[in-house]
Amino acid sequence: LWKADRMRTVRQSRKLQGVRYDVRGPILVEAQRLEAEGHRILKLNIGNTAPFGFEAPEAIVADMVQSLPDAQGYSDSRGIYSARTAVAQYYQSRGFRDAVVDDVFIGNGVSELINMVLQTFIDDGNEILVPAPDYPLWTGAVTLCGGVPVHYRCDEENGWNPDLEDIESKITDNTHALVIINPNNPTGAVYSPDIVKGLIDIARRHDLVVMADEIYEKIIFDDAQHHHAATYAGDDVLCLTFSGLSKAYRVCGYRAGWVYITGPKHLATDFLEGLTLLANMRMCANVPAQHAIQTALGGYQSVNELIVPGGRFYEQSKLASRLLNEIPGVSCVEPEGALYCFPRLDPDVYPIKDDEQFVIDLLRAKKILVTHGTGFNWFEPDHFRLVTLPDVEVLTEAIGRIDEFLATMR
Ligand code: PLP
Repeated sequence: LWKADRMRTVRQSRKLQGVRYDVRGPILVEAQRLEAEGHRILKLNIGNTAPFGFEAPEAIVADMVQSLPDAQGYSDSRGIYSARTAVAQYYQSRGFRDAVVDDVFIGNGVSELINMVLQTFIDDGNEILVPAPDYPLWTGAVTLCGGVPVHYRCDEENGWNPDLEDIESKITDNTHALVIINPNNPTGAVYSPDIVKGLIDIARRHDLVVMADEIYEKIIFDDAQHHHAATYAGDDVLCLTFSGLSKAYRVCGYRAGWVYITGPKHLATDFLEGLTLLANMRMCANVPAQHAIQTALGGYQSVNELIVPGGRFYEQSKLASRLLNEIPGVSCVEPEGALYCFPRLDPDVYPIKDDEQFVIDLLRAKKILVTHGTGFNWFEPDHFRLVTLPDVEVLTEAIGRIDEFLATMR
């Protein structure tokens, strides 16, 4: 007998227990199965601009191309000097007078930096306050690092603003950090100065590190303004601000992001040494994409044309929330920013028990892929997230098909 029956099965490590990232989970596997059968699936599950006809500013693409011959080597693991300077100068222009190169680490997108920062920061059992709903990488990465994600409620009836009382009530002696996602994915909420200040005051009172994911900072509509958490964190709250090129510059595939560190860094030297160690261990971020950072931040901000009336981000977001609100039993808080709608399905009209199954049923019936609300760690199976990236025609057709499907349930 061959020894195959004596070989061990290969299993994922225990570290992965409870780690989820549903946006690309079983729902995507089912969509791919349908595609293999020859169906055309409209994928509205991921905030990926390129497939929907958005193009990066030419100068960014040209910069990537031009840098290829000279960007063959590893760079400094914290990032190339010009990119780190450009990020520091960007924050200077946002009012952070003392921002310097040493405050910036460049990564392969915000995703890599979230993982690296949490790996550096979390000890087993540490509690980290994460919004619900959240961008699920945060919950997944906290869990992967041995931490305990503690979800605080964002209040749909109050424009999806974080419920500050709920946050306070969930703080224990073991709470170490507060995650803020602003502008928010999946809800599209953009927080007022009072809310941001309220969040930071909580962090200050309870000696929490603030982790502010601000990747959608430039995608805001109408009167909304983005307020950096770091502005209110000042000198006495350690604040890690994450942002990057993926969304505002439409180059998610290039993988370029950064984390900017403010506050009492003298109390965080050990943490920063650890972060540098992890940065060293993965050598560096994609070097050609790092070259694009200076070009992007210093150049013409074409995103500003997309977020005003007549611009695609703006028009599509407004249309999607309006059409969703016209469906009986569906309500959608109008997004103030970002690239998503997060509508509610009234449980009295649509008594859904398993929202992932709902998404799969919709996919099979109408060939549209959205993401279930519990995939964003929302508490009830009564929401889904729709990406508002297709042009108005496709978006209208897509929401029409969602309406047809819901009509069979009413
Ligand atoms: N943070 C939020 C809130 C996001 O929505 C995303 C991507 O959708 C990311 C981080 C990851 O971005 P990156 O492409 O920089 O890894």
